Amino acid sequence: MPIDEIIGEIVGAVVEGAVEVVGTGVSEVVAAVFDGGGGEKKPDTGEGLIVVGGSYAGAQIAASAREAGYTGRIRLVSAEAHTPYHRPPLSKAYLLGKAERESLPIRGAAFYDEEKVELLLSTPIVGADRANRTLTTAGGDTLKWDRLALATGARARTLADMPDKVLVLRDLADADRLRALAADARRVVVIGGGYIGLEAAASLSQLGKRVTVIEMQDRLLARAATPALANFVADAHRARGVELLFGARDVGFEHYHGVLSGVRASDSTGRAHTLPADLAVVGIGVHPNTELAAMLGLAVDDGIRVDEFARCIDAASGAPVPEIVAAGDCTRHPSRWNPAQGRGLRLESVQNATDQSKIAGATVAGAAAAKPYDAVPWFWSDQYDLKLQMVGLSGVPDTTVTRGNMASNRFSLFHFRAGVLVGVDSVNKPADHMLARRLLASRVPVTPEQAADANFDLRSTLPS
Ligand SMILES: Cc1cc2nc3c(=O)[nH]c(=O)nc-3n(C[C@H](O)[C@H](O)[C@H](O)COP(=O)(O)OP(=O)(O)OC[C@H]3O[C@@H](n4cnc5c(N)ncnc54)[C@H](O)[C@@H]3O)c2cc1C
Repeated sequence: MPIDEIIGEIVGAVVEGAVEVVGTGVSEVVAAVFDGGGGEKKPDTGEGLIVVGGSYAGAQIAASAREAGYTGRIRLVSAEAHTPYHRPPLSKAYLLGKAERESLPIRGAAFYDEEKVELLLSTPIVGADRANRTLTTAGGDTLKWDRLALATGARARTLADMPDKVLVLRDLADADRLRALAADARRVVVIGGGYIGLEAAASLSQLGKRVTVIEMQDRLLARAATPALANFVADAHRARGVELLFGARDVGFEHYHGVLSGVRASDSTGRAHTLPADLAVVGIGVHPNTELAAMLGLAVDDGIRVDEFARCIDAASGAPVPEIVAAGDCTRHPSRWNPAQGRGLRLESVQNATDQSKIAGATVAGAAAAKPYDAVPWFWSDQYDLKLQMVGLSGVPDTTVTRGNMASNRFSLFHFRAGVLVGVDSVNKPADHMLARRLLASRVPVTPEQAADANFDLRSTLPS
């Protein structure tokens, strides 16, 4: 029986109370199976755990490893000059000038001191070797590790030949540049109608810029939201003066001595447009940072492949590697939430980076988490006065019902496939969102009729 199935059976049985474990904790049972897994775990040499990547996943892995009792040395290595910070405000409150740097750190300085997490900032890792258990920094130093966590996240995709004043928005340095350039810009083109592009469009429009969003697909949020929510969001942007151009092809840039002057694109009819612009934001998705994993001989498939305990997978044997975990935007994990089960799921969200890292931290500490990673995916986005909160993966639902009033900008869309609730999108309805998380996690049956009836108390469907 493959090791995954053995773990699954034992964990499932222990969690459900079907086996009695005398004198042994769940984590020890799992750890015993875990250590005898796909690769022999080499003995620790005192080098401890290195976490590569200083953002949500990196900080959480370090914290969770300590929480799980790991007492060895922990080093958190990041290419960036800052301690882990919140990225969501970069396209929202920070771009609007309503949040400043001091509010961005995910954890205060005291955390790193108290938990004895050594920070190696401005230290990109450019090489990795599994046999010798080493990493190589861009400065040429060698770092040795006993256990390794990859929390390398993702980088923004770019377009060819981007002149000056064309930016992506992934990190604080990008946001600072965007803020500075936005001060003098009048006409902005945002390339890409996903969440980051739309948040940037909303913020820049609120700052008084004339904004056009150009999108390749025939609607907004094609990858990330249901058509019903996407249409609502499109109307919200148009109502606030943002122009939307769909079916865009052949996007390119006009420039004057290397400085942006316009954005070219043809629309779905093939008609060519040149939009004058003194600033452009490219929000066309991300590439997961998987290069180190590949160097380590780990399986990569548009994301570092991990199992439900966040263990990386050996590329040659397909077996989990006990001493290397990965979590966050850089990973692809097995998930029952994914309608296309086979390939697993790669999520780009704070929820996933945080929740998966809790498992990764416990796993790499040697106390494998009692439960495999199975959190309900959720995400939020702030645009204008709209708080969008999405839970579940709705994909293409066959039935959608509205609870609340769309015209008042306070409603939730409940999405069903084959009669099963698969996701809920809420607009300015945080209570609905919180309840929907519980409904999806507990998998209680909810009917479209119940969801659409604002007088029906959905909490009554939850187990007491
Ligand atoms: C502008 C913006 C707005 C967003 N808004 C939302 C939102 O509203 N809601 C939401 O849920 N999510 C949002 N997200 C997504 C969310 O921020 C990400 O899902 C989250 O940051 C992922 O965390 P992570 O730790 O996996 O990776 P990342 O945040 O990508 O961090 C990876 C870190 O690893 C470092 N690194 C990578 N490779 C190396 C290397 N070789 N050596 C050393 N260091 C390395 C990087 O420099 C970086 O610091 C937003 C993202 C952006 C950019």
